[in-house]
Amino acid sequence: MGVDCLFCRIVAGEIPATIVRETATTLAFRDIDPKAPTHVLVIPKEHYADVATLAQGDPTLAGELLQTAALVAEEEGLTVDGFRLMFNTGPYGGQEVFHVHAHLLGGAPLGPMLC
Ligand code: 5GP
Repeated sequence: MGVDCLFCRIVAGEIPATIVRETATTLAFRDIDPKAPTHVLVIPKEHYADVATLAQGDPTLAGELLQTAALVAEEEGLTVDGFRLMFNTGPYGGQEVFHVHAHLLGGAPLGPMLC
């Protein structure tokens, strides 16, 4: 991807973001409009449109993304009380940015479902 993808531009350093963890293949940064006390987005640096495409195209990278999310959850102090890790996928799933991202949410009770 590149110039047309918001999160590729964050990876490239063209758009600022509050980065909380970076690995060779993944990036975790705070959501600009947090829906919970802690709201971090975890992405692969390589462009995949959604989680289904990522999981089928590069399962190793999908695992690295989950590993980064788990480490950030621990660093953010979310592992005692729990957290939510979710992928909005496609228009019906509410996805607005088509560069796969896990939402890591926590810091307060979130209820049974987040819409
Ligand atoms: P989606 O609806 O695609 O699952 O989630 C996209 C998320 O990206 C939203 O939670 C939104 O607040 C976040 N977001 C949109 N633009 C930016 C941005 O420029 N910077 C950051 N850090 N987050 C963004």
